[in-house]
Amino acid sequence: TIILGIESSCDETGVGIVRLDRDGGLTLLADEVASSVEQHARFGGVVPEVASRAHLEAMVPTMRRAMTAADIALSDVDAIAVTCGPGLAGALLVGVSAAKAYATALNVPLYGVNHLAGHVAADTLEHGPLPTPTLALLVSGGHSQLLRVDDLAGKITEIGSTIDDAAGEAYDKVARVIGLPYPGGPPIDRAAQRGNPTAIAFPRGLTGPRDAKYDFSFSGLKTAVARWVEARERDGEEVPIDDVAASFQEAVADVLTAKAVRAATELGINTMVISGGVAANSRIKALAAQRCQAAGIELRVPRPRLCTDNGAMMAALGAHLVAAGVKPSSLDLSANPALPVATVSV
Ligand code: ATP
Ligand code: MG
Ligand code: FE
Repeated sequence: TIILGIESSCDETGVGIVRLDRDGGLTLLADEVASSVEQHARFGGVVPEVASRAHLEAMVPTMRRAMTAADIALSDVDAIAVTCGPGLAGALLVGVSAAKAYATALNVPLYGVNHLAGHVAADTLEHGPLPTPTLALLVSGGHSQLLRVDDLAGKITEIGSTIDDAAGEAYDKVARVIGLPYPGGPPIDRAAQRGNPTAIAFPRGLTGPRDAKYDFSFSGLKTAVARWVEARERDGEEVPIDDVAASFQEAVADVLTAKAVRAATELGINTMVISGGVAANSRIKALAAQRCQAAGIELRVPRPRLCTDNGAMMAALGAHLVAAGVKPSSLDLSANPALPVATVSV
């Protein structure tokens, strides 16, 4: 069974193709992504109107590239999964419209699926089926959540989330403050390798005894970095960019991994998946590996390519829905920019 996945929730147009084998195994056949990230760089964030237009231009060429990479024809497709939320409304509509057109023309079932569940499903392309339950730490440009996954095809429960900025958003804002390019994750990760993570003691948000133990907060950290840098500049001193990056990154990695390991331990869950764009981060991966090992938790992190937005993860999620016998969506489905993570498919 061949599943086509279409992704357009933010600034990546993704088309992925996955084969669902008889034994339930998944084989990745194609993973094509066209990004409009460079068009947003000078604004320091994604411009919705620009992203929508870029999706419209990239969708069919990306689809063609995926077909060529998988060496299949459109007529070989058995089902389609498309991101219908959460994300930018105008961006989502491009993918949903394209998916409806392909599903109608090919007369195959269509599944409107959740982008965040897709980020978790990405891991099954690399490491096989998820043990249940699994604790998922989802960290991306727009989200930072702890999820209990009992069934990727239908039962995902949010147990904590950020009360302000997402982790990726904090990376992007801090990069701006220290003069690194957008998106901030990769350049901060690189600068941090050269810096001292204990040079500056930045705050660890929501780690006090009375704070919600599974929620995150990164806006105070971002402000603390900005204040520290401003004070240096006011004093006419050079800003040690590598040390700021390393110290900021240490604060993010410390809080994310401490809370995730605590949640897994307290809920009696012994598998953890970290996914979303920020899961590509080297320090978060290393610290999570260390802390999971100490706590007897098996850690799974997909390769960076599968962590950032792509169509393959949506195809993987679609394959799990097909395998579980979930009912397809109606062809009048719409996009839902605020789709809750508990709604895996509509
Ligand atoms: P969402 O999935 O919440 O809708 P999104 O799709 O924009 O948001 P992703 O593509 O999953 O997010 O991730 C993009 C984010 O990942 C950006 O904020 C980027 O800075 C961050 N990121 C990418 N690589 C790294 C890295 N090595 N370290 C830290 N952050 C990173
Ligand atoms: Mg992106
Ligand atoms: Fe994403």
